[in-house]
Amino acid sequence: MTVWICRACAVEYPDTEHPPAACAICGDERQYVPLEAGQQWTSLAELSEAGTTLAITEVEPDLFGINAVPGVGIGQRAHLVRTDAGSILWDPTGFVDATGAAAVLELGPVAAIVASHPHMFGVQVEWSRALGGVPVLVAGADREWVQRPDDAIQFLDGDEHLILPGVTLRTVGGHFPGSLLLYWSAGAEGRGVLLGSDTVFPLQDGKWVAFARSFPNHIPLSAAVVDRVATAALARPFDRMYGNFGWAIPGGAMDVIRRSADRHIAWVRGDFDHLT
Ligand SMILES: [Zn+2]
Ligand SMILES: [Zn+2]
Repeated sequence: MTVWICRACAVEYPDTEHPPAACAICGDERQYVPLEAGQQWTSLAELSEAGTTLAITEVEPDLFGINAVPGVGIGQRAHLVRTDAGSILWDPTGFVDATGAAAVLELGPVAAIVASHPHMFGVQVEWSRALGGVPVLVAGADREWVQRPDDAIQFLDGDEHLILPGVTLRTVGGHFPGSLLLYWSAGAEGRGVLLGSDTVFPLQDGKWVAFARSFPNHIPLSAAVVDRVATAALARPFDRMYGNFGWAIPGGAMDVIRRSADRHIAWVRGDFDHLT
């Protein structure tokens, strides 16, 4: 039996004899099934045989980035937030092996795994098992998107959750109804760090963020939703933010989010009529 992994999004499916007919995540309008390749499946064993490994890099003190190399699926960077009460693995990759899990545990015990939204579920249950059965937290509003149910999964209902001292999750919606943000108060030398993922997406110049229902398919969010997401994101203090592809807003990230939300709102509301 094989735990099937969608090649396009790297989300895991239950261990059945044959792979599913289709991936529900990629079939949704926020993602896509590649035209040329079509729906394809892989497994951890196949990825390992192909030479896939996990690379861990320090992003700032007590914050680590974890990438599958070569990339798997969407190719996100997972983050490991380390605290005295244990670490949080955020946006787990679509690949894990014993070597990578051991390297993560060398940095300290892991308290929980949580993905910002279903595109970032990766192989969260496999990660849980590789780390000794730690809980996998999933926003209750996105429970229908869990493709591999497991006893390790715990659903979060409500807007805000203090999951460890100094680490808070907020459900702010937008990209997905249950889209989560992670606030780490000790980050950025104590000024606070936000992990934004696709919910509040930092752009490459470090000066702007984007909001979207779908990034690959260029589907916007309305002015009302972006205003709600930005207001909810700014409910807790932070200075720096990191995205799920290695891009960051080094400082002043609260102002960046408000300014970016106002720009988005002005365009989708029709404030500008630029014909030149
Ligand atoms: Zn998929
Ligand atoms: Zn996404």
